Amino acid sequence: MTRLRQENVTAAKWSSNGGALGTVDLTEAENNPFGQNVFSLATQRQRLSKDTFKQLRSTLEHGEALDPALADEVAEAMKRWALERGATHYTHVFQPLTGLTAEKHDSFFEPDGEGGAIADFSGKELIQGEPDASSFPTGGVRATFEARGYTAWDPTSPAFVLENPNGALLCIPTAFTSWTGEALDAKIPLLRSMDALSKSAIRALKLLGDAESKRVFTTVGPEQEYFLIDEQYFFERPDLVTTGRTLFGAKPPKGHELDDHYFGSIPERILACMMETENELRKLGVPVKTRHNEVAPGQYEIAPIFENSNVGSDHQQLTMQMMQNVARNYGLVCLLHEKPFAGVNGSGKHNNWSMGTDTGVNLMDPGETPADNTSFLFFCAAVIQAVNRHQGLLRASVANIGQDHRLGANEAPPAILSIFLGAELEKVFEAIESGQGDPHTPGSFLGLGTPVLPALPMHGGDRNRTSPFAFTGNKFEFRAVGSSDSLAFPNTVLNTIVAEAVDELAEQVEKRIAGGDDVAEAVTAVVKDSYAANKQILFGGDNYDEEWHAEAVRRGLKNLRTTPDALPEVLAPATVKAFGAYGVLSERELESRYEVWLEQYITRANIEAETAESIARTMIVPAALRHLALIDAAEVGELAGETRRLLDELLAAIATLDEANAYPEGIEGLELAKHARDRQLTAMAGVREAADRLEKVVADDLWPLPKYSEILFVR
Ligand code: ADP
Ligand code: MG
Repeated sequence: MTRLRQENVTAAKWSSNGGALGTVDLTEAENNPFGQNVFSLATQRQRLSKDTFKQLRSTLEHGEALDPALADEVAEAMKRWALERGATHYTHVFQPLTGLTAEKHDSFFEPDGEGGAIADFSGKELIQGEPDASSFPTGGVRATFEARGYTAWDPTSPAFVLENPNGALLCIPTAFTSWTGEALDAKIPLLRSMDALSKSAIRALKLLGDAESKRVFTTVGPEQEYFLIDEQYFFERPDLVTTGRTLFGAKPPKGHELDDHYFGSIPERILACMMETENELRKLGVPVKTRHNEVAPGQYEIAPIFENSNVGSDHQQLTMQMMQNVARNYGLVCLLHEKPFAGVNGSGKHNNWSMGTDTGVNLMDPGETPADNTSFLFFCAAVIQAVNRHQGLLRASVANIGQDHRLGANEAPPAILSIFLGAELEKVFEAIESGQGDPHTPGSFLGLGTPVLPALPMHGGDRNRTSPFAFTGNKFEFRAVGSSDSLAFPNTVLNTIVAEAVDELAEQVEKRIAGGDDVAEAVTAVVKDSYAANKQILFGGDNYDEEWHAEAVRRGLKNLRTTPDALPEVLAPATVKAFGAYGVLSERELESRYEVWLEQYITRANIEAETAESIARTMIVPAALRHLALIDAAEVGELAGETRRLLDELLAAIATLDEANAYPEGIEGLELAKHARDRQLTAMAGVREAADRLEKVVADDLWPLPKYSEILFVR
């Protein structure tokens, strides 16, 4: 069968099935869809008794425990509200160690014994579900014969109704545990880490003179990158369907070199798709804010306003799901893989992280004069200390097979963790360390050379796009997170390691105060010592530069290039110590994650390698043979030489891949992961190399796979 380029015209056609989303008067409150499908605080206030509402609210605002006796009333109100919105079913949504979300739907309706049905949903069903857990990965925490697992209602993340063209569903965010109480999910450790950090931070704030704050929340605002491609190309490519990325594809003559895509005007079909996605997300209370074209052709970004880590992380899972669902309404497919196209920029998810008090203070906000902001300097020093000590773990927290194509290439932050502080802050810390010099940076204005344009207030430091962990004004931006990653674990790590550093610094401050220092003296001395001991992690230059990689080695920083290099950090003594001390994950729970993630790496590598072999054998070799037959028929013998040579190379590479795909006996775990990395993935690269050169030789109508030039540019 031949591929016809006319199909591209079909691919580029679309119809605007979003309809008239944008034609209502948004000054009318009822036309604003935000939170319309959320069992929100306002809805709860309307529908619950005063007492129940008050209790639920303190759980949300101060992390207080909820009295289970109230569950019946909440369940009844929730059920009524959901039924009014046409929900026939409810589900406990949870996040098993697959990194995805899971759900099992149960109908509200039960037979009433008289041939009818009544809607039933009690507090017990709200609080606890019992999915058969034996099919979820546990990394050995639970043997398969102990199938029992529980989901537990998380009242701090709002329930919502998810609409479907054919019905609606009440979704209840839940945690997922084994019947022995071990966390089998991503939410439980995240919640535990938020509690840990809050406790440490409140202790420190008391020392620093804040007697009012009762709770500190960590916050997250993710900037999600993704690709949208026409679904026709997606379904024509078994590699995209099976692995989420293209395993073949020659570099097109035009990539992003013209820089004509980034922040460019958004194509109409794409914008229509974005608008519907955002509208659906708004109904679910996800505060989406920013959209734009990204660097690569076909690549885009969506970012919400930040929320507390737990809700932000839940909303991020929902965002990824919604982006994929809505894309299909527009004949598009949303790719969340970190590196869908070789040689083209990959996708990440910048994880903006901060902490704020329940009284509304952002602890990472330096204010106008950071040099005089003792509290900021204290918490900032704690972050620097935490990131330096646990740099390997942070790298591991974003490790997956897709990321190995991205981290370390000249587009994403490198696999080496370092912090960018910016000139203004670095000056402050350097002055504290040396005890000399003026730590202040005077505010200045940027004149634009014409009186008609206003003078712009200048920031204390430039931005740095290459740093994996950058201070950006009032938050840190952890940029190494992958586009398909759940936010839960990277944030669990950040919260836990910062909790540890805050406690350590607080203890030193307490000692100095006991020894006669006043608070300011004590904090300055402690910040000075911590900064001096940890400043090796700071780097303000170009993180892509080879020279930096050499310098990082000299400084003793870790360069964990691949997932098998990084994952052992999950079990490093410093990790076990911090996670144990704060009750975030026991050693057994850490081991289970290590096992699951390693297994995922091995399995995904194997799926890729098998898919590559199959495509090469059954699609690419036959295309080359047809091309040869064409040349033979035309009796232009000299044209056959190059094709034959490339075909021979391809066949040899396939043989090598085939050998690598037969697993060696008797190895498992990390060793098997290294086999996958060093043998399977390398052999795949060999097959691809020959195939991509054939793509440039074989007759266009005989080539069986849509090309990069089509996938990335027809929209
Ligand atoms: P920038 O352009 O510096 O990245 P933006 O204001 O565009 O800054 O914010 C980018 C992301 O950072 C958004 O998702 C936003 O919600 C998030 N963000 C802003 N403030 C905070 C904060 N205090 N905590 C966590 N995330 C934040
Ligand atoms: Mg940003």
